[in-house]
Amino acid sequence: MSTRRLQTSLGEVPFDHGAQYFTARDAAFGQMVGLWRDLGIVAPWPPAGTDAWVGTPGMNAIVKQLAAAHTVAWDHLVTGIARKDGDWWLIGEAGSIGPFDAVMLAIPAEQAAVILSLHDFSMTRIALKARSQPCWTGMFVFGRPLAGVPSVLRHEGDIAWAARNNAKPNRPGPEAWVVQANPSWSSARVEDAPDQISGLLLAALSSAAGSVVPDPVAAVSHRWRYALSAGTGDGALWNDELGLGACGDWLLGPRVECAWLSGRMLARCLIGSEDNPIPTVAPATGSLQPVSKGPR
Ligand SMILES: Cc1cc2nc3c(=O)[nH]c(=O)nc-3n(C[C@H](O)[C@H](O)[C@H](O)COP(=O)(O)OP(=O)(O)OC[C@H]3O[C@@H](n4cnc5c(N)ncnc54)[C@H](O)[C@@H]3O)c2cc1C
Repeated sequence: MSTRRLQTSLGEVPFDHGAQYFTARDAAFGQMVGLWRDLGIVAPWPPAGTDAWVGTPGMNAIVKQLAAAHTVAWDHLVTGIARKDGDWWLIGEAGSIGPFDAVMLAIPAEQAAVILSLHDFSMTRIALKARSQPCWTGMFVFGRPLAGVPSVLRHEGDIAWAARNNAKPNRPGPEAWVVQANPSWSSARVEDAPDQISGLLLAALSSAAGSVVPDPVAAVSHRWRYALSAGTGDGALWNDELGLGACGDWLLGPRVECAWLSGRMLARCLIGSEDNPIPTVAPATGSLQPVSKGPR
């Protein structure tokens, strides 16, 4: 649910270059989305479907809101986790952070498997069997609108999805298109250079639009190596003895809602139950503390 900003001759242009929109079919998630709507950080976007929502002013608005209640170590790559005297430590390029009573991995299966492998074999096995497919995403800024082209194009040739990003709510700015290639096309070119991909995706957009699009004033491509996960169906993973768990879309399905539901399932394993439900709205202020050593 990330938003990327391109500096262009027409000014800074934001792009939702990962998840494009989301739906809320689960009742609890629907309630959460209602609260986000009241906070003004999501809005419906009918061109993507009658039940489609987008973050405002970008898809990352939701992540920002969720993170605001916590202390987050941004740009901190965790390369491993270590157990010492019954506590967990996160190992990263800049050293170790800890101690923590519990660790919950909310990262793609392929990356989680590496970290889990030294600690829990059955969780590792589940992560290893999860498979995801890549998605090449092109971002293009044009000096004029692509006249007569609908704001959403789906399953057109090599394109799985293309959308006029500036047509989403609360996104003023020049004509900006996100073009996402389908999984087989992306897999076949996963190691190609981004510049080469941009040219191919622009040509694919022209062909989907039915006319040659003008030269873009800016063009960038991003490779999502672990984009679409089939979902193992496990929901969430939790080892109560170790205080180690994993969540993420890969345990349910390749959608924002699935990621949220999986995270909620893992939170229930750690701190809540049906009788003692976890709050669905994060407090406005607070800080991340190592989980207390009470009963889990
Ligand atoms: C191109 C694309 C288009 C999509 N379109 C849609 C859509 O239209 N609708 C929809 O519902 N869903 C869509 N999805 C799926 C949706 O984005 C995911 O289901 C959801 O974001 C998964 O959330 P997550 O928290 O499980 O994992 P992620 O969103 O992948 O978050 C994992 C985070 O962990 C970080 N991370 C990974 N490894 C480490 C590490 N070792 N140390 C520290 N941090 C780490 C990553 O940088 C990332 O920020 C799309 C996904 C992609 C890639």
